Parts: sequence; structure tokens; C-alpha cells
Amino acid sequence: MRNYLKVSVIIYFLLVNSQAFSGWSANGGELIKDSSNPWFIQNTTDVSYCIIRGENFSLDEDKADRQIRQAIHFWKLHFAKINGNSTSGISIKIATQNFTRTSCANDVDLVFQLGVLLDDEQNSFIRKPTRLVAAAVRTSYDEVNLRGKGFIYISPDSGPNRFESMIENQVWSFHLSGKLFFFVLAHEMGHLFGLSHWDMMFPKNSYPHVMDSDFPESIVSNPKIAANFEYLDPKFGHDLSDEIRIGMLQRRDSAAVEFFHIPEIDAFIRFRYNENGFVVEGSRINSSHEYFTHPIGYVTFSRDKKPTIEEHPIVYVVYTEKQKVFDLNDGNAFFFRNRFLTGPGILTKTYRGSYISFDSAITRPIWMEFSPNRVKIGGILNDEIIFDMMNEKQ
Ligand SMILES: [Zn+2]
Repeated sequence: MRNYLKVSVIIYFLLVNSQAFSGWSANGGELIKDSSNPWFIQNTTDVSYCIIRGENFSLDEDKADRQIRQAIHFWKLHFAKINGNSTSGISIKIATQNFTRTSCANDVDLVFQLGVLLDDEQNSFIRKPTRLVAAAVRTSYDEVNLRGKGFIYISPDSGPNRFESMIENQVWSFHLSGKLFFFVLAHEMGHLFGLSHWDMMFPKNSYPHVMDSDFPESIVSNPKIAANFEYLDPKFGHDLSDEIRIGMLQRRDSAAVEFFHIPEIDAFIRFRYNENGFVVEGSRINSSHEYFTHPIGYVTFSRDKKPTIEEHPIVYVVYTEKQKVFDLNDGNAFFFRNRFLTGPGILTKTYRGSYISFDSAITRPIWMEFSPNRVKIGGILNDEIIFDMMNEKQ
């Protein structure tokens, strides 16, 4: 039964609009069912790429190539942590290829088009370049070998086709020493490796994620957002950090206030992890602008303290009967009837236990669900189930 629940995620394949070009697809979605597939899976060992740079693109080719290799390395590193997981019983591995740069005169798998659109077909596919920071466009797909070809387009940072909301000209070379280019590239490469927009797969929360649908646009139009990134972490892992700070208590009517018995004057709550559970602390800024933190209760995890773990696939491979990559007798029949496989997934951990407040010794059932870059807290308050107490009203 578990698989059926996860499969609901795939509905987004059906929600998207159609495109004018048969075989062309961009940024995770159109009528053609395999359009969100990774361009390459493990049967493809080598990928060739080339770079075409236009005159209105401020980063030179060598620097751009360094960032391209860094973006490839970034995804290899993160996918390596989760490759091999699969609820469909057949292992799919992502970002395992050797990428080699070559001349664009050759027949290459992947063209990086830095500030240039090459022909009428590309121009009419992109339509309004000034409204677009970047796109990963798959132009053909081999249904036998499950292998795609295409180009990644990145907006010029000056001239008539420059993305209109860029904070200034020459953002690619000047801002954060080329890091903005790397961030945008990492997002587009994520599509190439089969990732869809994160905000379609997981509830959006206060931290931006590299695969959020508005990530490229927001970082090139708001330098403050970009400056806050030390590095990009797609949060494929699921380690608990020792301290979880959960938002400001801007909503005094949130169920959390009553649940945890938080004093009216506290502005934050945070959870400090230890082996038995969490210490829950209230926090506020005092009159001399210092944080004043005090314990208000603790969460103890029940029984053996082991969480419930669920896997959520983040890559899907949709195929036809033409495919020759997998022997489908090995896997789970449900997926074969529906002609798709699940790729690597990320894990959600849910801890269950009790919350006990220090002041009045209230005890309430609580559960804390840790999914990628989000913690959702549920519990029972006055005989009612609360699913997301930081966001639900009392
Ligand atoms: Zn995107």
C-alpha cells in the first residue's frame, strides 16, 4: 500500500501544459509523459557537452566551464548519497556519467548556450527571452536507451535579451564572483538530472531551495537572497541537527502557543535535540537587544526512540515498451502496469512521543515530521488532532 500513496506525487505529470514542438520539453512538464525523465541514467556512461557564448554574456568561457564542472560535481555528490533507493524495486542511478567538453562542431549531447539562442526554432520556443533567466530544453529523447539531448540556455546579462528583472548588468561575472551563474546553472542541471520543482513535491517553507520554481528568478533579481547562501544544499540527507529553530511566533493565534504553553512575550521557539528528545525553549529579544532564552518544556520520544521512515521518490522514469535498459521482470508489478519507475528518493523521519511543559506539567501527544528542509509538528490538543501546529490556528 505504501507505494500507492507515494505515487500521488506523479500526478503533476498530468497537470501541465502542452508545447508547440513535439519532442521539445523544458523545465519539467508538458503533455508528453517522459518529459520529466532524467536525460541520462546509469546505462549512459559518457556525456559530451560544448559551450557557445554570446557577446552579451559577461563571464568568459573558461570561467563558465569551471562553474559548469562544479555544478555537475555538485549533483554527483548529492545524488551519490541516495542513488540506488527505489520503491519500484529497480535501481535507478542519477548523475553517474563522465562529462567531457568538446567542440560544438561535433554531435554533442548537451549544449550550454550562454546568452544565445541559435535559430528560429529556439527563439519561438523560448518566446520572450526577457522574461526568462534560464531553461533546460530537451530537444530529443531516445526511448530505447532512455537518453535525452538538448541545451541549457542562460540569459545574457546585457543587451536586448537580458532578463528584465536582473539587478544590474553583468551579474554573471560580478555578483558574488560568478556564484549567481553557478546557482542558476545548478537549478537547470537539476532538471537535466530529472528533478522537478521542489515546491511542487514538498510543502514550501521559509528556506529557499535550489529547485524551487522561482529560485533562478529570485536570486538574480534579489541579491540579498543570494548573499544568504553559503553553499547550496539540496537536503537529500536527513540528519537531525542539534538545534532546530522554528520560525518566529508572529502568529499569536497559532495552535503552538497553547500547545507548548508559550508565554505571550516570546518571539521564537526552538528545539534542542538530545538523545532522549528535545528541550523546547522560548526566546525573545530583551530591551538591550540580546536574546533571552528559557526552557518551557521537553519532548520525549516514545519506546525505542526510533523514527518511522518513509521514502519519497524525487526522480521518475516514464518509459514505453521500446525501452531496452531494464529487465522489468525484476521489479514491482504495479509500476510496470503503469509504465514508470521511481528513482532515488529522500527519506522523511517521524518521531512520536510526548510533550511535557515545565510550568504546569501538561502532557500531550506530539509527533515531529522531518522532511527535506522542513519540520512539521503535529499533536493532540483538547482532544483534537493538529497536523501542522506552527501554521494552524488554535
Ligand atoms: Zn526550474
